[in-house]
Amino acid sequence: MTLDFDEGDELRALRGAVADLGSRYGQAYFLEQARSGGRTDALWAEAGKAGFLGVNVPEEYGGGGGGLVELSLVLEELGAAGCPLLMMVVSPAICGTVITRFGTAEQKERWLPGLADGSRTMAFAITEPDAGSNSHRIGTVARRDGDEWVLSGRKAWISGVDLADDVLVVGRLADSTGGTLRPALFVVPADAPGLEARPIPMEIISPERQFALFLDEVRLPADALVGHPDQGIAQLFAGLNPERVMAAAYSLGVARLAMSKATAYARQRAVWGTPIGSHQGLAHPLAACQVEIELARLMTQKAAWLIDSGQDAGSAANSAKYAAAEAAARTVDQAIQTHGGNGLSQEYGVAALLAMSRVSRIAPVSREMILSFVAQHDLRLPRSY
Ligand SMILES: Cc1cc2nc3c(=O)[nH]c(=O)nc-3n(C[C@H](O)[C@H](O)[C@H](O)COP(=O)(O)OP(=O)(O)OC[C@H]3O[C@@H](n4cnc5c(N)ncnc54)[C@H](O)[C@@H]3O)c2cc1C
Repeated sequence: MTLDFDEGDELRALRGAVADLGSRYGQAYFLEQARSGGRTDALWAEAGKAGFLGVNVPEEYGGGGGGLVELSLVLEELGAAGCPLLMMVVSPAICGTVITRFGTAEQKERWLPGLADGSRTMAFAITEPDAGSNSHRIGTVARRDGDEWVLSGRKAWISGVDLADDVLVVGRLADSTGGTLRPALFVVPADAPGLEARPIPMEIISPERQFALFLDEVRLPADALVGHPDQGIAQLFAGLNPERVMAAAYSLGVARLAMSKATAYARQRAVWGTPIGSHQGLAHPLAACQVEIELARLMTQKAAWLIDSGQDAGSAANSAKYAAAEAAARTVDQAIQTHGGNGLSQEYGVAALLAMSRVSRIAPVSREMILSFVAQHDLRLPRSY
């Protein structure tokens, strides 16, 4: 008998400590930074110092020695407190996992301690304007020139390049141009000559911004390549499944925040003599959202656990990400409805979650691509593209 849904004292304590930190900053801080063009460096630094950003990094490199179970819990709690730190999805989760699993001893020594304590941040760049959801078409090419790699290409929607010291860039090896993708992962310093980052104006109210990247003959030392070029696909997915779980945790945090705002409001607002929460027209949709949140949370925990125990997590990570994104989008929408006009005011901070909750249906992998994955892999239906 091993099936156990109890998180246990250690995880509960971690949840409590992260929730305390998140609530000391809160949504007001997060929105203030976003609206003023500020940054969440103070929260990031404090979370790093407390060990929350590096809970998944091995202890020998200054981390907590845990895994995605712990890391996703941290992001969920920060989000529920109003501070969903998007860079957690990329820096410790994707980059931390890929370097831990495939980096050389020297590369781990160079990058992991900083990722663990938050003093170093790494962005992640796979998406390209012309390839979009079809990552097999990426055209950023890496060619070997003596002892160096030379990278050229374009990337789009890359989060937090202004916050990052480095970007983990997915390129394709020059000899695979046009053929089957042989991806390779390179750590590119954010200030590397030939790399230009242009902010993309977005309607998302978040201090973490998106950038278009232009790589023009960016020269890198041989050891900028992480992992083996012949195992690029497996190495890439070692990072992408954690990304999906963290995207799910991000959505769960947003959904929980929206739900707590909606229920607080529905308990106290009365326009017919009783609180509006007593009307089933409002209570039932909120209850349905609560069911969706709990289901998405279970699947997120399962996916994180599968990754941590070294098992295939493809279906679970995709399902968790899908379920959490849907839960977030519906909960935020219903929270706005519950607030009436106040739902669209700045004061209540509910509409501020709208674009943020919609992102989850698109990035890092869209709901349509997830449904195609589930149809093909879980239902064994013919491949659709
Ligand atoms: C806020 C934000 C942050 C991001 N951060 C990062 C980051 O840090 N790093 C990074 O690399 N990328 C990042 N992305 C990019 C993100 O991963 C992509 O936007 C996403 O993968 C979708 O690609 P696309 O935008 O090119 O859409 P497209 O691929 O052009 O898709 C457009 C629409 O067509 C649908 N579609 C496409 N193909 C199919 C199909 N075969 N069947 C059915 N429907 C289909 C899609 O589901 C979508 O609805 C970010 C995006 C956003 C919005």
